[in-house]
Amino acid sequence: MTKPSALERLGLTPVINANGAASRLGGNLLSAAAQEAMIEAGQRFFPLNELQARASETISRVTGAEAGCVASGAAACLFLSAAACMARDDIAAMDRLPNTEGLRNEIVMHRAHRNPYDHVLRATGARLVEVGYLGTPSNPGARAWEFEAAITDRTCAFFYVVPGLSTEVLPLQTIAEIAHRHDLPVIVDAAGALPPAENLTRFIREGADLVAFSGGKGIGGPAGSGFLAGRRELVLSATLQQQDMYIHPTLWAGPFGPAAPTFSNGPARQGVGRMLKVGREEIAGLIAALEDYVERDHAAEQARTLAIARAIFDGLDGMTGASCSLVTPPEATWPHVVVDFAGDGGAPRAAEVARNLREGSPRIFCLDAWIDKGLLMLQATTLQEHEVDVLVERVVAECETEGGRHA
Ligand SMILES: *Cc1c(COP(=O)(O)O)cnc(C)c1O
Repeated sequence: MTKPSALERLGLTPVINANGAASRLGGNLLSAAAQEAMIEAGQRFFPLNELQARASETISRVTGAEAGCVASGAAACLFLSAAACMARDDIAAMDRLPNTEGLRNEIVMHRAHRNPYDHVLRATGARLVEVGYLGTPSNPGARAWEFEAAITDRTCAFFYVVPGLSTEVLPLQTIAEIAHRHDLPVIVDAAGALPPAENLTRFIREGADLVAFSGGKGIGGPAGSGFLAGRRELVLSATLQQQDMYIHPTLWAGPFGPAAPTFSNGPARQGVGRMLKVGREEIAGLIAALEDYVERDHAAEQARTLAIARAIFDGLDGMTGASCSLVTPPEATWPHVVVDFAGDGGAPRAAEVARNLREGSPRIFCLDAWIDKGLLMLQATTLQEHEVDVLVERVVAECETEGGRHA
């Protein structure tokens, strides 16, 4: 008898992920390149600041930014960004955070960009200043002068989310132009903006000073990782506030090690971002995943995902209980199948089918964000070819069983 695997011993059975890369299911599939790097990194020891320096080189090469660093997610990178924009290179200020007394701590952003992830900016002690209005279908929701007017002597940065609600917000270039005229940096939340791979360079080119990406969503890196790309002095401040700082001043070589002695200040104390630490496995895994991602054949990958979505659609088309449609690029970044339970009135039925799919065998998780509209989405990005038949079989069975399995 074969020995049960580590997860089997815990009584866990893997589920079928038709939800797409989501933290609650573990992110995306870990790329082979990342797996290999993570296993190797865990067997040896490496100074973390030197690993971060290598990450910076890779991030810089693939994004066009001056520098980069790795933290425990895009959210962590945003937290570090806010801390960096407030403390800059002042290690006494770093030591004081999240107490922002005497510091510039206001971050200006579109009201339409407020979202539950911005908690991470507030957690640093920063205060969000909202600009523009919502609910004006005949007008853009924000004006350039409103951003100008929101700047005070306590403003430390602007914040921008991509992809955002384009009708309610100003373009990133406009925001960056205003910010830079006032010598302020722009922080961009691009956590879920990969693919397309062009976005690696796009926001930096459009004027962003710090851009946060997830490691565990589009690129197939460790789920507990994210990377920050941006201006050198801000990235150095960010990573300094995260790295382990129990280090003797005489041996201090800076957050990027002896090869990059540009940050003379320090060592700081353990910073406000210390809880966002990453190990050598995450840094090495992120670097490997990112290098692999930029080399990948994105068109072939898109075609593979499209073929999976199409096979699902073909399998579901014509079933009773719900209607299906296939949504493909350019209409959506990710090919997916929409299962429609007759609109808003179908919401209870959509919820019931989603629940039954999760509870049956094998367990299937679909994207439930539009349940209130009576829709379930089946995302192909996190599916593998061999899962299609059983997925189709189970979705058809659940949809065609009026009243659900529990009736
Ligand atoms: C996923 C996401 C985050 C968080 O990213 P993590 O890498 O999971 O920390 C932040 N902002 C947005 C818009 C996201 O979609």
